[in-house]
Amino acid sequence: MKLAAASATDQGLVRANNEDAFLIDDQRALFAVADGMGGHRGGEVASHTAIEALRAAVANGTPLHDAITRANDAVLARAAGDDELTGMGTTLTAVVAVGGRQLLIGHVGDSRAYLLHEGTLHRATDDHSLVEELVREGRLTPEQAEAHPQRAIVTRALGVDTSVDVDLYTIDIEVGDRVVICSDGLTTMVRERDIERLARTEPDPQRLAEALVSAANAAGGEDNTTVVVVDVLEVDTAASADHTALIPEQAPGVATSAVIAPPDPPEPPAPRASRQRGSRGRSVRGAILVLLPLLLIIGAATAALGWYARSSYFVGASGNEVVIYKGVPGGVLGWNPTVDERTGIAVSALPTLDRDRVQTNSSRGSHATAQSYVERLRVAATSTTTTTTTKPKTTPTTKKRSTTPTTKKRVTTPTTAKSKGP
Ligand code: MG
Repeated sequence: MKLAAASATDQGLVRANNEDAFLIDDQRALFAVADGMGGHRGGEVASHTAIEALRAAVANGTPLHDAITRANDAVLARAAGDDELTGMGTTLTAVVAVGGRQLLIGHVGDSRAYLLHEGTLHRATDDHSLVEELVREGRLTPEQAEAHPQRAIVTRALGVDTSVDVDLYTIDIEVGDRVVICSDGLTTMVRERDIERLARTEPDPQRLAEALVSAANAAGGEDNTTVVVVDVLEVDTAASADHTALIPEQAPGVATSAVIAPPDPPEPPAPRASRQRGSRGRSVRGAILVLLPLLLIIGAATAALGWYARSSYFVGASGNEVVIYKGVPGGVLGWNPTVDERTGIAVSALPTLDRDRVQTNSSRGSHATAQSYVERLRVAATSTTTTTTTKPKTTPTTKKRSTTPTTKKRVTTPTTAKSKGP
């Protein structure tokens, strides 16, 4: 795999210092952005401490997930015993090449990684921020989130607790793809469609990084802005797609040998920007995302079948009487046919062909079709001159239904039968 990376960072127009930090380690194909927070110099120390710990851990062969956990430990350790640094924390979004044609992303906080693929920008990470969680829960619209006064509140960061949930994602990459890692100074100032437009039109990664930072400042520069751009120049086409799972939560050996060393077992084929198990909540959400379309399809199919079952009619027999059934012969998924209308026509009075048709329920269609078939049967039954005269008289009164057109016809039929009879 061959990658080309570039970066730009700026403190912006409002902040007194730059608390962002970033990493480009070409040798290990490791790239990261950290956005520190905390009073005095806390934020600056936190982000740089996390980046350095990440780099050192990956250099030692630590898998990305564990390397980020170590970065968390490092920030906590650095803060302990220094009153000025108490309470500092940092986001960390790190990208490392794995298996020749995939990237593994480890992510905590509200910095972001994007993938530009065939001219379209895809957000590869979920923000761990209050407003983004409200958006994901459907309690805020994305538009409301953009202007929300609390959009800077992060819900996950390094340096807060001894344990940290790390989101891991793998993305498949192709030649021509481009990854943009950035702090929220970019995304709170510049709309995604503008980021996309710049990323699509500026071929040079360094100029793109600078253009994005400039765009953030042009929009107000309210925060520090940091951008790392990684262009995919070559992928390892020899990397096969049929290998055993490697990047579960712990991604053993992923980080070290990622780019250069071939012995690294390649990754299982993962859908673009598939989500790895970073935490229980994530995996559940992932499962729902996978299951939801399936459930929707099943639901739609069930509804369609139900509709079909309840909107179909057929002419059949109930005992010796011809009846119109609502439903499908034999029933569908628990919707059993029900008698919609009794006709008073004796099955035994029908010519053989019609009798067979009725007894095998082979006449199906709309309600109107069923009714017109019944009328033909009525004529057929009377013309066979079998003993049907008494039955039609009793049936309409006992089994009368409110469907008026048929009731009318039922009443008339016995008279015609009589007149035609003997
Ligand atoms: Mg920031």
